[in-house]
Amino acid sequence: MASPTRWLSATLAICTGVTLIAGAGQAANGSEPLPSARAATQTVQASAVLKPAIYRGPKATSGKVVYLTFDDGPSRYTPAVLNVLKSYDAKATFFLIGSQVRTREATTRRIAREGHSVQDHTWRHPVLTRLSSTEISAQFTRTNRAIRRQGIRQPVCARPPYGAFNNRVRRVSQTLGMRTVVWSLDTNDWRRPGASTIARRVLRGTSNGSIVLMHDGGGNRSQTVTALKTILRTLKARGYRFETLPACS
Ligand SMILES: [Zn+2]
Repeated sequence: MASPTRWLSATLAICTGVTLIAGAGQAANGSEPLPSARAATQTVQASAVLKPAIYRGPKATSGKVVYLTFDDGPSRYTPAVLNVLKSYDAKATFFLIGSQVRTREATTRRIAREGHSVQDHTWRHPVLTRLSSTEISAQFTRTNRAIRRQGIRQPVCARPPYGAFNNRVRRVSQTLGMRTVVWSLDTNDWRRPGASTIARRVLRGTSNGSIVLMHDGGGNRSQTVTALKTILRTLKARGYRFETLPACS
């Protein structure tokens, strides 16, 4: 499944000590923008009914951290991504497509076994803003069930495909006990601009606490795998470490 995600904006809404990772993206299969996707920055305000997200930005005393996230797996490229992460002792967060978990169960279990975080990227990667609450709920619950069946902890983070969400999507996620999580740095690796370009975008754009969006599925991800080696080697040399998203623990 093609899974492009074109990042437009992300916002950290800070509201009485509660930090919610939020954003509004726009993307589409192929390269056409989604009609329903919003181009404007969206700030999601935390409210009394919202479960507080626990991501609080960079930790002042614990050095430099980067949060690598991979969407649209598991796929045939996921093992290669895992191999690279392992060789640098890096941990990441994987947002899985539920329908693919069924056909790649061993890979799914390997992600969790190697210390990465396994989270929910819907069952079939639809544009959630076009669905009813019931349909949105089914996309997440079905995926969560498939993940739990592999002996993996129930996801607590939901990443809407294309970064497209609205209050309905957020409310449904929240009802299911999940936070809506997007990203702060988009590599646009799904466009396959070349491994060196992908790496350069990360190396130039990363700062402490960056949430980096990459893809281990949705198409040929050999460029992503190659870029990941450069990214990890270089950022490690700069003193960064790579952890799972605290908001999803
Ligand atoms: Zn996706």
